[in-house]
Amino acid sequence: MPELSVQDLMDFAVRALEQVPDEQDAQALRQAQTPVLLEASEAITEQFADRRFNFCAIVNAKSGRCTENCAWCAQSRHFDARIEEHPLIDESLAVAAATKAKERGCSRFSLVTAGRKLSAREVRETANLVRAIRRETNLEVCISAGLLNEKEFRLLAAAGVVRCHCNLEAAENVFARFCSTHSFADKVKTLEAARRAGLQLCSGGIIGLGESEADRVSLALALRRLGVPSIPINILTPIAGTPLAQQAILEDDAILRSIAFFRLINPRAQLRFAGGRARLSPTVQLAAMKAGINSAIAGDMLTTAGTAPDSDKVLAKKAGYSFEDDDAIAFDRAHLWHPYASASNPPSVEMVKSAHDARIVLADGRELIDGISSWWCASFGHRHPDIVRAVIEQARQLPHVMFAGLTHEKAIELGAKLLQIVPRGLQKIFFADSGSVAVEAAMKMALQYQSACSQPQRTGFMSLADGYHGDTWNAMSVCDPKSGMHAIFSGLMQKRFFVPSPISRFDGEFDERDAALLESYFEKHGSETAAFILEPIVQAAGAMRFYHPQYLQHARRLCSEYGVLLVLDEIATGFGRTGRTFACDWAQITPDVMTIGKALTGGVMTLSAVLATNAVADAVSGTPPAAFMHGPTFMANPLACAAACAALDVYASRDWLSEVRRIQAKLKTSLSPFAGRSGVHDVRVCGAIGVVETDRPMNAARVQPEFVKRGVWIRPIGRLLYLMPPFVITDEELEILTRAFGEVLEAFLAGLYDDDF
Ligand SMILES: *Cc1c(COP(=O)(O)O)cnc(C)c1O
Repeated sequence: MPELSVQDLMDFAVRALEQVPDEQDAQALRQAQTPVLLEASEAITEQFADRRFNFCAIVNAKSGRCTENCAWCAQSRHFDARIEEHPLIDESLAVAAATKAKERGCSRFSLVTAGRKLSAREVRETANLVRAIRRETNLEVCISAGLLNEKEFRLLAAAGVVRCHCNLEAAENVFARFCSTHSFADKVKTLEAARRAGLQLCSGGIIGLGESEADRVSLALALRRLGVPSIPINILTPIAGTPLAQQAILEDDAILRSIAFFRLINPRAQLRFAGGRARLSPTVQLAAMKAGINSAIAGDMLTTAGTAPDSDKVLAKKAGYSFEDDDAIAFDRAHLWHPYASASNPPSVEMVKSAHDARIVLADGRELIDGISSWWCASFGHRHPDIVRAVIEQARQLPHVMFAGLTHEKAIELGAKLLQIVPRGLQKIFFADSGSVAVEAAMKMALQYQSACSQPQRTGFMSLADGYHGDTWNAMSVCDPKSGMHAIFSGLMQKRFFVPSPISRFDGEFDERDAALLESYFEKHGSETAAFILEPIVQAAGAMRFYHPQYLQHARRLCSEYGVLLVLDEIATGFGRTGRTFACDWAQITPDVMTIGKALTGGVMTLSAVLATNAVADAVSGTPPAAFMHGPTFMANPLACAAACAALDVYASRDWLSEVRRIQAKLKTSLSPFAGRSGVHDVRVCGAIGVVETDRPMNAARVQPEFVKRGVWIRPIGRLLYLMPPFVITDEELEILTRAFGEVLEAFLAGLYDDDF
């Protein structure tokens, strides 16, 4: 057997990033000499592991009298070790321990309880302790409370617990030697239940129990299989009275080798120094950190003395780590709520310093190609110099003024520019501050219109299944009723009539059944409907579906026939995205009301508008209260209007539609090979939008680093992996973007990214 080189070991670890290694390959690591192992694991740590050293603290929340017989543990009532015993601690003790941990610079705090598992009452009491800790501190709370089930974990998660700790302790084949009251399988079951309850996992083990080196490799591999992101490594401290009291102390070399195995097999995991390290010399501790330890339990352990965090900090800095406390990201994580995200268990975020053209520039200088135009608004490229200049000039003169009783040049100029490009017949413009607010205003306008037309019974709204119209209350009510986005509120919202979304594809033949089905909805609900609201051609956030223009012609005809207003939501599709200025231009129709937003300012400021025909405006205005009853404070904000004026000049200055055709051609050639692949439901392209719909959802937070690593910014929505690049994207950038898209999709289809790093 040839000697393993540093490069061999690193190649192994790089493969382990993507795929669980097989047992034989992992066991082969043991052939390497210690210096070779340490050199490779240091390199892998530097390249793939978190370089911010993280501290957590634990409190012994319930001690002793444990029914279990784990051979290393002083808390078992089967052995005669002298330790302090106490029932579940009270709130003041828990909060005091947490506060102390916070002062020592810990970001996580774990309540650890002895016993097989908590009783139902203790689970409720523990949930109260967690609430108290979260009230008084901002620590992320972990729980280590034995073999709980999913329901119990959910209860604790709702109280604020974000992570479950449950060590596998030892390799499966030796576990029974050290504990007979529960099994390795029980541990795995517990971790899986915690994961289903939405908790992160923390699981490691103890080395030096008398197990072999092969057993340690097996344990590291079992943790890799479970995809555990935080792995505490304990070194046995033999305790008098326990069955392992006479166990020989593990040698430094064996400890360092073990850490290297854990790192090479779990390249991205947080390897956490836990119990037993206090007896190691600073030199060995430093070597352990270099080899992969990038986190630690600070302060005392449960039944053994720990290490002062200050001495850990000195060593960790020497080993090249930084500290979360110094970091702006840590503040973001602790206090800033991101969209559609947990605030107590936030997914990771990237720090952005600037942006230009099709690029997002990160704080560390890396540039990402923006594959989704920052949620589809930066169509003409980030930080367009003309738009930036317009905003700066406007800011010097008039950043804001109210729009009631006053007007300003930029609102007028913007109105005039819009009238040149919107469908003929739209004459009145109501400026609002975001897409959702425009949708709210459009819906209110429709109700006022119907009431003015002596049709007060028309209070209903029709919309399409799979649609998306925003996150505010009424906008939500016309979004797809089943999609995960708003399901939680569905019982509280007014009932709407949802027409199944058309089956006629954008690039296919029109299927007359779509027209017949739509007509049947008008027959049934037409007389009680104020407006039919839909996204023309492209149903964006809800489904990324593209349907046939003829459908819109039928919608136009039926709305007129039944006295229903046609409201087209062009917020995602406006300004060239589908290959026409507005998506409804494909059908050459004029809606009664149209909403625009997103790319309206070139993605520089938030601004939206509701456009209406004179027929709508006259009815609303000609009947008491003779006014449209809506007026956001920042309506027609001059900075936003100036940005939009400049953006419309940019739009007029170049043949963007041919850029969209160029992007469309490339999206077609690079995405179409995925059509028909197992795991792929559909592939479709419309204008500068390309979509691969997969059979199962992709975890956006999980794949985000995979895209970032490849220099692109892409963020899937559930089962939709899509691209909507800025029109300024160059051919070379488009090549990098589509290649990264393909690579990550391939890996996803192969079953990677199912862990929770
Ligand atoms: C994004 C979007 C909205 C909501 O716009 P916000 O600015 O996020 O409030 C509404 N309708 C459509 C079609 C959208 O794509």
